[in-house]
Amino acid sequence: MKTKPKIWLSSPHMGKMEQQFVKEAFDTNWIAPVGPHINAFEEDICQYTGIKYAVALSSGTAALHIALILLGIGKGDIVLCQSMTFSASANPIVYQGATPVFIDSEEDTWNMSPLFLEEAIKSRLKKGKKPAAIIVVDLYGMPAKLEEISGIALKYNIPLIEDAAEALGSHINGKMCGRFGKLSVLSFNGNKIITTSGGGALLSEDEEIINKSRFLASQARDTAPHFQHSSIGYNYRISNVLAGIGRGQMIVLPERIRQRRKNFERYSTYFKEIAKRGYIINFQPEPKGFYSNRWLTVITIDPTVNNGITREDLRLAFMQENIESRPLWKPMHLQPVFNNAPFYGNGISEKLFEIGLCLPSGSNLTASDFDRILGVMNNLFC
Ligand SMILES: *Cc1c(COP(=O)(O)O)cnc(C)c1O
Repeated sequence: MKTKPKIWLSSPHMGKMEQQFVKEAFDTNWIAPVGPHINAFEEDICQYTGIKYAVALSSGTAALHIALILLGIGKGDIVLCQSMTFSASANPIVYQGATPVFIDSEEDTWNMSPLFLEEAIKSRLKKGKKPAAIIVVDLYGMPAKLEEISGIALKYNIPLIEDAAEALGSHINGKMCGRFGKLSVLSFNGNKIITTSGGGALLSEDEEIINKSRFLASQARDTAPHFQHSSIGYNYRISNVLAGIGRGQMIVLPERIRQRRKNFERYSTYFKEIAKRGYIINFQPEPKGFYSNRWLTVITIDPTVNNGITREDLRLAFMQENIESRPLWKPMHLQPVFNNAPFYGNGISEKLFEIGLCLPSGSNLTASDFDRILGVMNNLFC
C-alpha cells in the first residue's frame, strides 16, 4: 500500500521574493556573515515589531545565550525560567554556569505564572540570593502575562528576557511580543511562523546593548588593524544569504499569521460541532486584549470527560495516517537533564503536558490536508 503524503506539524512556507533576494546575494557576492540583506532584515524586524534596535543572529538559542552574557550572568547566579517551554529557553543558563529555577504555568495563557514568579523571587531573597534574570516565554504564539511579569521584574529590579521565538506578530493591546524584555529573542528556525532555515534575532530598546551583542556575536574584535581581543567572542551572526530569505519572509508574515489563525478557526469550528456529540475539547485561551499569531493550534483532551479518549489516542491515530502532531513541551522541571533544578508551582504545566496536543498548523495546509485531518478526528470522536 502506498503511504499517503506526510502532513507536517508546521513546515516552511516560502513566498515570492525569497529566491530573488538569495539570487541578489549571489549576484553581488555577499556570501558572508555581513552584507546588505542583514541590515535590511534587521530594519524590517524593527519596523514590524516597533522595537528600536535588532541584531540578526544564527539562531534563537544564540540570541538567548548572548542575552545572558550581556546581563553578566555567570557561575553561582540563579535564573528564573518558565518551565513549560522548549529546552533552548533554559540551556543557555547552563552554558553560562548559572542555575535554572523553574516556574510553573498559569491557566489563562499557559505561560509563566506571575504568582509563582513572585513566590520564587521572595523565597530566593529569603535564602539570601537575588535571582539574576527572568526568562519568560510566549508559548505557541500566545503572549504571556507580560505586563504583570514586567511589573514584577521592575518591582524587584531583575532584568527580564522575553523569549518570543514562537510569537512574532503576536501582541497585547497592540504592543508586539519581542518588546517586553530588557532583551527579547526571536527565532527563524525551520518550523517557526517564518523561517530563514536557521536564524534568530536579539531585540532591545537599548542601543548600547545591541551594539555590544553585534560585537560579541562577531568574535569580539577590537578596533585595530590586526586581530585584537579584550573579551571572549562568539561566531553567532547570520549569513547574508539567509537574511535574504528572511527579507522575503517578512513580506509574507502578515499573510502567514492570517493563515495560521484561520487554521485555528477551522479547528475550533470543528470542535464546536463535535461538542454536540458530547466531546469537550479545549484550546489554549486567548485572554481579552491578547492576540496570538496561533503559530500552533493546541488543544487539551481530558479523557475523564471524553469517553476515555486521550491525546495519545489522537496522536497515534494521526500517525497511522502519516499526519504529524505533537504533545506539548515537556516541562523543564520534569526533564532528566534538569533533575535537580528547583521548581515553584502547583502542577498546571504537568497537567497540560499530560492532556495537551499540538495539531498540524502549517500556513500551507491545503483543503485536502484538512479533509484528512478531520477524517481522522471523526473516526475517533464518533
Ligand atoms: C525555537 C525556540 C527557541 C530556539 O530557537 P532556535 O532558533 O531554534 O535556536 C527558543 N525558545 C523557544 C520557545 C523556541 O520555540
